[in-house]
Amino acid sequence: MAERPVWIPAYIGVGSNLHDPAAQVARACEALADLPQTRLMALSPSYSNPPMGPQDQPDYVNAVAGLLTRLPARTLLLELQKLEAALGRMRKAGDRWGPRVIDLDLLMHGFSREATTELTLPHPGISERNFVLFPLCDIAPMLVVPGQGTVARLAAAADHSGLIALSPTG
Ligand code: ADP
Ligand code: MG
Repeated sequence: MAERPVWIPAYIGVGSNLHDPAAQVARACEALADLPQTRLMALSPSYSNPPMGPQDQPDYVNAVAGLLTRLPARTLLLELQKLEAALGRMRKAGDRWGPRVIDLDLLMHGFSREATTELTLPHPGISERNFVLFPLCDIAPMLVVPGQGTVARLAAAADHSGLIALSPTG
């Protein structure tokens, strides 16, 4: 009998700052549940926070989703990029940190570590961005980020400033 791929826990950072960001985040999280070979297991509350980089753009709404997936990390990343496009994200050269209708980042895929331009795992934003760390801590405080310790410990050392908890996502 052919061997079936195992289910791997994966965490997705979801963000938006255009066209009713809270609704965009909720819509993207619903769509994550429909990815192939994937189950949506947990959804953090949403947080509002000021923009990173250029300040002349609306505030962001961010949340984190916990999945179980049988997709390899790169396939899951391609599915996330397809979903970003389907949800209306236009990518332009130089729009890094600019306003976006939806951003889906692969934060962790099992305990994989990768460092290429296409895919960095764990996502460097986990420890650097409080709007990733706090929602991740809501759903997976005991998760160990490879090389960095538990999410709870990282969150305890991070700054809450600017982050406002909204109602549950969706
Ligand atoms: P950011 O999410 O950092 O604000 P973008 O979404 O515009 O910026 O950046 C996406 C680029 O980052 C893509 O080209 C993608 O290949 C690359 N990338 C590297 N690692 C990851 C990851 N873990 N999750 C999502 N994109 C990643
Ligand atoms: Mg991204």
